[in-house]
Amino acid sequence: MADEERGKKCKHTSCDCPAPADSDYCSEYCEDAHKVGINEIGCSCLHDACG
Ligand SMILES: [Zn+2]
Ligand SMILES: [Zn+2]
Repeated sequence: MADEERGKKCKHTSCDCPAPADSDYCSEYCEDAHKVGINEIGCSCLHDACG
């Protein structure tokens, strides 16, 4: 089986991207969006996983 990333996921509500070990978010976009309380139907972080 593939060794999938586990545990960390982007904290932005609309985002399902894996987050890097040194961040709670996959991108600055998600960090900013989460901080200001944006609740999108879909994520706009531009990662393939969220396309
Ligand atoms: Zn995303
Ligand atoms: Zn994200």
